Amino acid sequence: LHGTYDNDNIFAKILRGEIPSVKVYEDDVALAFMDAFPQADGHTLVIPKGVTARNFLEMPQEKLGPYMERVQKVAQAVERALAPDGIILTQFNGEAAGQTVYHLHFHIIPRREGKSIGT
Ligand code: 5GP
Repeated sequence: LHGTYDNDNIFAKILRGEIPSVKVYEDDVALAFMDAFPQADGHTLVIPKGVTARNFLEMPQEKLGPYMERVQKVAQAVERALAPDGIILTQFNGEAAGQTVYHLHFHIIPRREGKSIGT
């Protein structure tokens, strides 16, 4: 669950502009971009800037509030843009929980009635 933050993880590279991404929101606190392997149309990721938190548990408390405000702001923007029937927010901590990229991120996944995840 815990470990050393890798400065060369894929989201750190996206933050540095070394890997392209489809950005949908950015300020000094957070960056939001489209998931490259979306589980549903509009699947968006929100990551904090200026931190070396591998997951939610490692996020410095004083940075958590501002970051979570951005997660909500992006989720509201996704709702306005796509008008889904529902929105899932998910966040995985550790390999056993399904985490694959070790820079904190929230998934924003729009859901539509009658459509299962992954379609
Ligand atoms: P996790 O399982 O760690 O919570 O989710 C990592 C997410 O990052 C996955 O949904 C995966 O599709 C996404 N992802 C992995 N590599 C890239 C990439 O290079 N670019 C983007 N935009 N998303 C990625």
